[in-house]
Amino acid sequence: MTSDGRALQQRLESLAAAGVDALPRRRRGNRASNGGRPPAAVAAADPAPAAALPRAPAAPDDRRRALEVLRTEVAGCTRCSELAAARTQTVFGSGPADARVCFFGEAPGADEDASGEPFVGRAGQLLTKIIEACTLSRDRVYILNVLKCRPPGNRTPLPDEVGNCRGYFERQLEVISPEFICCLGTTAAQALLRTTEPIGKLRGRWFNHGSAHVLCTYHPSYLLRNPAAKRDVWADMQLLMERMGLTS
Ligand code: URA
Repeated sequence: MTSDGRALQQRLESLAAAGVDALPRRRRGNRASNGGRPPAAVAAADPAPAAALPRAPAAPDDRRRALEVLRTEVAGCTRCSELAAARTQTVFGSGPADARVCFFGEAPGADEDASGEPFVGRAGQLLTKIIEACTLSRDRVYILNVLKCRPPGNRTPLPDEVGNCRGYFERQLEVISPEFICCLGTTAAQALLRTTEPIGKLRGRWFNHGSAHVLCTYHPSYLLRNPAAKRDVWADMQLLMERMGLTS
């Protein structure tokens, strides 16, 4: 089965477990406006299955429960045998189940593998500063990664690994149903938007994913190596703050 097929199967299984046995037919022409984006960007940002599914449970307690079910499922996952054999634990995500904004990273590193929490190492400390510069705090945002297991030596996730985890991160986002998703770096941006465009071309523009507004920016690890790019990230964060109605 292809990774998309697996993701769809996972999604249908979780909907069935939640008692949903019929999906509404997809309506044509009810997408959010493309905000002047070029058609390629709209297509890349427009994964069909998410738009056709019913909305996530509205009550925060329902969302918390759904995330705990998913967290347990992820903890037992062995799809990527190399990653499952090497991990200390899976790193599911952290934050309120009804967060307005999700920060979406690549994969756990050594610190995250050891602690079970996303973004707790040096890149995580920088992400915390970025979040706080936006007048937010870590306990008000949800943080998750594309991969839930650490790739050996922190290598870039392989396409198959992203495919194996797609069902998990898509369901996580579907449950949380954030208004905004901020993709951190190439892997997260390309995985969510299903595009091969480089991050330098994706940053600073708005996309849609289901009902969420998506903004991409550089990964904090890249900023640790290239501090000059902090200026670009701050410009991106100002776009995010403006749309979220936050003032600095
Ligand atoms: N980098 C990521 O992309 N995610 C983490 O959780 C830590 C570092």
